[in-house]
Parts: sequence; structure tokens; C-alpha cells
Amino acid sequence: ATPLVVATSTAQSAKNGLLIRNRTQFENSRKIDTLVFDKTGTLTKGEFGVNFIEVFDDKYDKEKVIQLAATLENNSEHPIATGIMDKLKEMKLDILEMDNFQAIKGKGVEGTIDNKDIMVVSPGYLNENNIEVPKELPSKGVSTDVFLLVDNKLVAAIGLSDKIREESYNAIKRLKDEGIKTWMLTGDNEKTAKQVSEELGLDGYFAEVLPDEKQEKIKELQSEGRFVAMTGDGVNDAPALAQADVGIAVGSGTDVAAETADIILVNSNPEDVVSLIDFGKATYRKMI
Ligand code: ADP
Ligand code: MG
Repeated sequence: ATPLVVATSTAQSAKNGLLIRNRTQFENSRKIDTLVFDKTGTLTKGEFGVNFIEVFDDKYDKEKVIQLAATLENNSEHPIATGIMDKLKEMKLDILEMDNFQAIKGKGVEGTIDNKDIMVVSPGYLNENNIEVPKELPSKGVSTDVFLLVDNKLVAAIGLSDKIREESYNAIKRLKDEGIKTWMLTGDNEKTAKQVSEELGLDGYFAEVLPDEKQEKIKELQSEGRFVAMTGDGVNDAPALAQADVGIAVGSGTDVAAETADIILVNSNPEDVVSLIDFGKATYRKMI
């Protein structure tokens, strides 16, 4: 049977946007000393808007660049893809015909358009393939820049900007007040990760982490004796959520993340993580 205090706090939690799937882990949330947040969609809004298009090749213009990129992104559910599709609509353009679509895990997308190999990829991908990353890009704010390659040649950069959620500042402050270390784990580039981390005053971050490596980073923190909670929203995050001592799926993320998680934050509000820890503590106090 469920102790009454637990049942009561479970109902109370639901009112506060928390769905508890694993009651034991909910009770354990009072032991959390390290919180690892995913960036996109949790600490930030995860709503990317295109803020610049830089074309490096005279044979292309901004319209063509967006058209090629959007033709690939039409097959992706990444927030970057949504941002590029919005730009296509805003510019009143249509997508082209494409074959051989492929997602390159944690790095971008690829496909064949008009017999050419087209890619939209991260700066990390350029580095690995010895393609020089353009320096003077007009990036501003929390900017995630992706690059359009045609037959492995750099054609353009597309800058997308996201915003830090207002609630993130308070969530981090409250966690600090409770003596909990805060980290961020992201597939996004080093520069953007550093910027978000410094702006929020996090204790640390892991950037450019490939989907398969996320779990390892959680293990690393655990091996230092930490009791780790992690938030995540994507299929990519599921193994890391399972690895964490308390796995927290966020908002409208994928079902896979939700199925692996111990707790679900219905409203994608990072402050609800603090409520979760407070509820865990209050519930335990009443039980002993
Ligand atoms: P996260 O979930 O932390 O945002 P991802 O693993 O989803 O990280 O993505 C890591 C990086 O890979 C992105 O910042 C971007 O550079 C690149 N990427 C992933 N998916 C796409 C996509 N559909 N289009 C372009 N770039 C992408
Ligand atoms: Mg993600």
C-alpha cells in the first residue's frame, strides 16, 4: 500500500506539474546533490529563429541556401529544423526534391538534391573533416550556427538563436541555495554552451557530447560519489536518463524519454525540478 503522505504529495506534485512514475526514485530525490540539465528546450526555450545567413560561394544566394537546408530539415524534428522551416515559410519558398535522407547523430542531416550531396552540420563536424570554420560570423545572443555543405564544400552558414528561459535563473539560484551542484550536458558547440553556462552561473558543463556519450558523462559524475539527477527530452537522452540516479523527462519531449524517466516535468519549467526536490524532502520528513 502507498503511505498516505506519499499519496498526498503525489497528488500535490501533479498540481505542480510533476508526474511521478517511480515512487522510490521520487523519495530518493531528497539525496540529489548534482543536477545535470539538458540545454535546448529546458534551460533555453528551444525555439530557434534564423538570425543570419552568410553565403561564401557566389553560385548561391540566401534563397537557395535556405531552400537546400530546409529540404533536408523537413525530415528532422530537431528544434534547429523547425527554425529553418519557419524561415523557408517566411521567405515564401518551397522545398525541393530529395533522396537518401540521413540524420548524422548529434551532428546534422544529409541528403541528395539534384545529384549533389547536401549537408547541414555543426561546427564540430567541420572540425573533424578539416573544413575551416569561418571566424567572423555575426552571431548574437545564444547562437547555434550550422553550415551548409555541397559535395563537402562549405557554401553557407546559418545562425539560429535561442533564448534562456526566465525561470532558469531562479531555478539555478534556488538549487545553489540548497547546496546542489548544477551542470549542463549538450550536443551543441562549446562556445554556445560556455555562454549559457556563464550567464546562468552553472558549476560546469559538457559540450559537443554525442548522443552515445551522454550516459558516460553521467557515470563520470557518479564515479565521483555524486547522486545525480538529469533532465532530458529527446530519444538521445534516454540512456543517460536511465543511468542517472533520478531521471527527469521534460515536457513535450519524446515518449522514449518519458518511458525511461522516473519523473516527468509536464511544463518544461526548470523551477519544477526544485519543487520536486523540495517535495521529496517534505515527504520523507513526514514519513519518519
Ligand atoms: P542537443 O539535444 O543537446 O541540442 P543534439 O545532439 O540534438 O544536441 O545536436 C547537437 C548538434 O548537432 C546541434 O547543435 C547541431 O549543431 C547539430 N544538429 C543536430 N541535429 C541537426 C539538424 N537537424 N540540423 C542541423 N544540425 C543539427
Ligand atoms: Mg536534445
